[in-house]
Amino acid sequence: MTLPKLARGGHIGHVNRCLSGLPASQSELDSSRLALIFYCLGSLDLLDAVQAKTTERERISWKEWIWEQQTQGVHGTGFRPSPFATPDSSTPEPYADYNGPHLVMTYTALLALAILRDDFSKLDRAGLVQFIRACQRDDGSFSIVPGNGETDLRTLYCAFCICDMLDDWSGVNVEKALKFIETCRTYEGGYGQAPFCEASGGPTYIALASLHLAPRAEGVLPLSQEQREKSIHWLIHNQHGSGGFCGRTGKPADACYSFWCGAALKILGAVDLIDTESHAKFISRCQFKFGGIAKMSDETPDPYHTYLSLAALSIFPPNLPDQGPIAQSWEFGGLDPLLNANEETIRWLRDHVPSR
Ligand SMILES: [Zn+2]
Repeated sequence: MTLPKLARGGHIGHVNRCLSGLPASQSELDSSRLALIFYCLGSLDLLDAVQAKTTERERISWKEWIWEQQTQGVHGTGFRPSPFATPDSSTPEPYADYNGPHLVMTYTALLALAILRDDFSKLDRAGLVQFIRACQRDDGSFSIVPGNGETDLRTLYCAFCICDMLDDWSGVNVEKALKFIETCRTYEGGYGQAPFCEASGGPTYIALASLHLAPRAEGVLPLSQEQREKSIHWLIHNQHGSGGFCGRTGKPADACYSFWCGAALKILGAVDLIDTESHAKFISRCQFKFGGIAKMSDETPDPYHTYLSLAALSIFPPNLPDQGPIAQSWEFGGLDPLLNANEETIRWLRDHVPSR
């Protein structure tokens, strides 16, 4: 099979349609609307289409909507997923239990605002630090909302990313958090979502990115040499004969694991082990004929798999011999592998988040 073009125009159309309204088949995603907006805007950002394919009016209204989700209260300040259909949801301050800030949504809100080139003048730094502190539990992990709710490595990663973006780790007990990550490591060299869980690509990326984001004393490595080699061995063996990556040993390939496993290999300095050409062919088969990327061929696309496939391609595009239109369609700018966003967007964020 020769590599076809990456259907950039179709993928832009798919995420733009999702930004203007969720299809009925994905309405359950409304409870994480901010994350969905990030996957859509992030896809446009990686395809270098934010300015060209959205209007200034749209960008202003998205920024206003995201800031409306910043909510303040007794546990500090963060972003909620969306204004839920509750009687007093239009007044976000102070928040009620069902309407409070959410760690994952706060991380995606900050990235979405950076993609929209917001000036961050409305950011409540001190409130964010207080919110992160309220989410950390005694075992070092983080709950998704202050005081209760799910806890897993995902929430820890989001807390670490926010600390890195603010350049302020005062809200986190880093030592305890690192110990929690260690308890999620498995005999395979990957990480599970929580202690005693099976290793999976998502938590493995999240654990490795968190270990590399955490501030450490000089000379202290995030992993021992033996641990690093074992992780690389497990991750690279998740690249399937089809070219795609599976998330767990023995499972079929799924496009989102291109990012989770591939970005983890990038963090470990082993991205050159990936067969990038067969990977690009796998992604080309996941492209839906009317735009968007699905988890595997013959499935329906969604912004999550579209974004993560494009993010993977931004880290390890296929190495094509000629420079024709097919090669150009597979070219991307750089991606920050730790915070998971376009490098230019991360530069904007660092330049505009007000300093302490
Ligand atoms: Zn997936």
